[in-house]
Amino acid sequence: MFTYDVAQPTDQMLLNEILNLDNGEPLDVDTFLRRDLVIVIQDRNELAGRYARNPNQPWLVCRICGGAVMLVLTQQRRFHFRHHPDEEGTRGCPISTKGAFSADQINRMKYNAAKESAAHLRLKGIIRDSLYADSACSEPEVEKVWRGMPIADRATWRKPDVQVYRKQQRFAFEVQLSTTFLTEIVGRREFYRVNGGAIVWVFEGFNPQENRTAEQDIFYLNNLNVFVVNERTLERSREAKRMALTCWYAVPHLKGRMIFNEWHEEEVFLDQLTVDTEQQLVYFYDYVTHRKELEETIAPARLRQEFHDFWLEHGTSEEPEADLAWSELRERMTLAMPQVSLPRSFHEGRFHGAVSIVLSARYGRPIGYRLPRLINVTNTAFDYYKAYLLPFGWTLEAFHQAESLASQDTKKTWEKRRKIIREALRSKDPAYRQDLKYNRLFAFLVPEIKEELAAERHW
Ligand SMILES: [Zn+2]
Repeated sequence: MFTYDVAQPTDQMLLNEILNLDNGEPLDVDTFLRRDLVIVIQDRNELAGRYARNPNQPWLVCRICGGAVMLVLTQQRRFHFRHHPDEEGTRGCPISTKGAFSADQINRMKYNAAKESAAHLRLKGIIRDSLYADSACSEPEVEKVWRGMPIADRATWRKPDVQVYRKQQRFAFEVQLSTTFLTEIVGRREFYRVNGGAIVWVFEGFNPQENRTAEQDIFYLNNLNVFVVNERTLERSREAKRMALTCWYAVPHLKGRMIFNEWHEEEVFLDQLTVDTEQQLVYFYDYVTHRKELEETIAPARLRQEFHDFWLEHGTSEEPEADLAWSELRERMTLAMPQVSLPRSFHEGRFHGAVSIVLSARYGRPIGYRLPRLINVTNTAFDYYKAYLLPFGWTLEAFHQAESLASQDTKKTWEKRRKIIREALRSKDPAYRQDLKYNRLFAFLVPEIKEELAAERHW
């Protein structure tokens, strides 16, 4: 089962003028709210979290009144900005966003009501009994106060549904039913982060195709891992003497430049989970790391290496597998760098020559040619690729090939030709007129000559 979600703004937005205090620049609200849903939800949490940590150093503010703002996620899964409730109406802003948070207030009331519902009680009991069954855990405590470090001389505390020690790690289990309130979630995450606790949010059930706002707030912040307990997991806990949970987690896949999530369901044990209290993560599958690895595959440095490797391996090849490898590389290059256009066939005359002489200069030996030495490549460049002699020369210089070329240049041909080239460029000889067509590609392949290329010498 795959999901891919892009965030969207609400149709009507009261606050469109937002200032980013990190860089002092106005925020492009529409672009900001139309990114990958995972990213927007994470930023939404970051926004609330930074305000919770220090209200005097907000990240995004209203450009009109300077008040901190929050991102609201509506029932229809759309986003808009509003003033932070603590600052609403305190700065004389002509725009009132007050009505916008009544939905949150309703949520809070529902949340409190749901707290002691039958389902909540039942889940709390299952968690407690599963932990009792776990031989590595201390005796679980239900609804007991967890005292935290005082913050700014204020006493802090939370009352998790169930808490337990597993070895040195203290866990808080929170049952999550239908509704919740982001500031509640953020507040708890902050509390447990400061106090070295790990929070495990537990759901009654999960369906990746119809997850609700309250669930998203939790799993997008928890490495896209969701935990579910029920009578069946309790039974497994008792059999194994380890707390069992059902874990739903997303595995990222790349399609073009987009990341799709594939959801898996797996039976896991508490002791198999990775706990990161600093990031407030408890997870089975490391979604974020795998996603970064995937994103790396279309990152420029990686692609550059693959392009070089391709040319080193297949530059002189006539085999069909070389053409296959080329079309695969070309496809990813096109996605990652649409501004660099590549021919369908890497054998294409000017293209193949231009790339081969520059990469030969880069590596100090013939690449893309069946020639014995770099000096032979200078002959080819001089005879057939005069329009690319400048990038060729810059690359030779950047990679200090002068000495080894001189030692190969027994007849002093290259030495003489360099003088000819210099003179021809000076007198703007049309035969030496530069072709700038591949400059972007050269800049990508040999970033060491970027500045020279950017100057775009032409006549
Ligand atoms: Zn304002």
